Amino acid sequence: MQRQPLVIANWKMNGSRQLTSQLAQALRADTGLLNDVTVVVCPPAVLLPAWQQEVFYDDVHLGAQDTNENSAGAHTGEHSLPLVSEAGAEYVLVGHSERRQAYGDSDQRVQAKVDSILAFAGQKLKVVLCVGEQEHERDSGDTVKVIERQLATALANVSAGQLAHVVVAYEPVWAIGTGKTASPEQAQDVHAFIRNWLQQQYDAAAETVPLLYGGSVKADNAPALFAESDIDGGLIGGASLEPEAFLAICRAA
Ligand code: PGA
Repeated sequence: MQRQPLVIANWKMNGSRQLTSQLAQALRADTGLLNDVTVVVCPPAVLLPAWQQEVFYDDVHLGAQDTNENSAGAHTGEHSLPLVSEAGAEYVLVGHSERRQAYGDSDQRVQAKVDSILAFAGQKLKVVLCVGEQEHERDSGDTVKVIERQLATALANVSAGQLAHVVVAYEPVWAIGTGKTASPEQAQDVHAFIRNWLQQQYDAAAETVPLLYGGSVKADNAPALFAESDIDGGLIGGASLEPEAFLAICRAA
């Protein structure tokens, strides 16, 4: 089955209005790219309106880096789905390792967020579920066990029909922002495991789910990673802050 390549920029707590214009212009100038690759940008939520204005006529999609599972209420500092959706987000990252490690996103909380995104009654939103093992878990041979636990909990209430709105990003924690990338073979092994696991749970519906690799993807290592059969694109942190590097990565997909 042919899956359209997908590349997602995760700006984390970086970027500016100026960089918004620069990256949007660079994407617009690369005629043809946006026909071949689905490009999604997840800026900090406060920059979503600037992005929305900038790419109004372009085929660039927007995403939020996280969401609160409640639709409104007394949650100081949080962003709800109605808010990020109104600001243009079509995708929502969930379970990024930085959220899991530093902000208390347990497997159960990740599940609650996935459920709320898929139940959101407004514009149809897509979940980008991030999974990944820590270095000590890989060293002790527990990679697959950790990934399976994260998938099984996060997707526990997700039906085969809803799977069309799910993207899975494999991000080994030891490779995020460290300059250490998983080798194409290491990444492909885990991607194949994820694809098989999805097939066991969902049969044919699993074929449509884009599987992204994330963790120190750069312009020079992207081609080899994206050449692997179960890697459909990337979730890009640091390199998405440099328009030239990000465009090169998108072209490699
Ligand atoms: P990185 O981040 O590309 O800077 O390693 C990836 C991510 O955290 O999504």
